[in-house]
Amino acid sequence: MPIEFSERLKALPPYLFKELDRIRDEVKSRGVDVIDLGVGDPDRPTPPNVIAALSQAAADPKNHQYPVYSGMNSFLDAVSRWYKRRHGVSLDPTTEICSLIGSKEGLAQFPLAFVNPGDAVVAPEPAYPVYRSGTIFAGGTIHYAPLLEKNGFLPDYRAIPAEVLKKAKIIWVNYPNNPTGAAASLDFYKGLVEFARERELIVASDAAYSEVTWSGRPHPSVLEAPGAKDVAIEFHSLSKTYNMTGWRIGWAAGAPNLIKGLGLVKSNVDSGVFQAVQWAAIEALEGPQDSVKAMGELYRERREAVVQGLKAAGLRAFPTEYTFYVWVKAPEGLKSADFASRVLNEAGVVVTPGNGFGPSGEGWARIALVQEIDRLKEAAARLAKLNF
Ligand SMILES: *Cc1c(COP(=O)(O)O)cnc(C)c1O
Repeated sequence: MPIEFSERLKALPPYLFKELDRIRDEVKSRGVDVIDLGVGDPDRPTPPNVIAALSQAAADPKNHQYPVYSGMNSFLDAVSRWYKRRHGVSLDPTTEICSLIGSKEGLAQFPLAFVNPGDAVVAPEPAYPVYRSGTIFAGGTIHYAPLLEKNGFLPDYRAIPAEVLKKAKIIWVNYPNNPTGAAASLDFYKGLVEFARERELIVASDAAYSEVTWSGRPHPSVLEAPGAKDVAIEFHSLSKTYNMTGWRIGWAAGAPNLIKGLGLVKSNVDSGVFQAVQWAAIEALEGPQDSVKAMGELYRERREAVVQGLKAAGLRAFPTEYTFYVWVKAPEGLKSADFASRVLNEAGVVVTPGNGFGPSGEGWARIALVQEIDRLKEAAARLAKLNF
């Protein structure tokens, strides 16, 4: 008998994609050229100026020792300047920003600073699963706010029952949204911040995709909303903007008290981000930004190719100008898992079943645009031949 896992580990929901992984391996073993559009990890390399900054900083012995836990001043200053430039928001680099070892780390640990056993945490579904895991690890109870197409995949936070609100500490939001691609307006953030201030709730915003766009209209930050700096924290990442998922760097910014709590948890768990990576991040934020724009254009082109193939198959996608995901509606009456396995079996294309992100994702699937255009055109051509 192996030694038993903790209750908190056992409380995590099961991995939903096992069956799909099995079918993928089986289809591959038949010799099919499988096109994997499952995982949300950019395929293109990190821009060369960022790699050069890393190489240079890695050679400097000053960067070989423990970093400052909350981030080097130069990094925090660069993030502060980024907020000013990008959002018109002024942030005190020492009290209102802290570095993260990738934003996932911050998202997962943040509830430990503010959630007691029995407290409620409101999280969207379908969603990135980390809001839920972090809550479970902190002993909190999740209340799901469904994201529905009729609401533009925005949560109806006014529909949260009063007894949940009484125990609630955090409301999570994620825009531009993974998996749906939906965007939020500044008015949405203003309303949410006002709602949270009245009820002494924390607004925790995951903004990992804010720069992944071809709209020409930059996505707002929750920190632009008046009063946000009393109740809001935003989690940000260089991963998706600069193709740096492997590098592990991000930041949290917002209310000083929230940054302080997160920093206290972190100082007991980790020892900050390798300084050479922080120097590379400064270069990413402050060096030439043409790669960001070019990636946006590339995702637009890739998206069009895939959406055309879907259309030819009689399928429709939720329209968006953000993220590198296509959120596609399965044919009426077909469940996400059955849809994904038919697409895999009949077209050799891996898509992620929407219900894996939460029950309201049932009847949808997510396509990640993380292959070169030729492969996506091939995927689109195969999708176009599907007969539902
Ligand atoms: C990719 C992703 C992140 C995390 O990125 P890091 O690499 O940990 O910075 C956070 N939230 C969402 C919704 C994501 O898709």
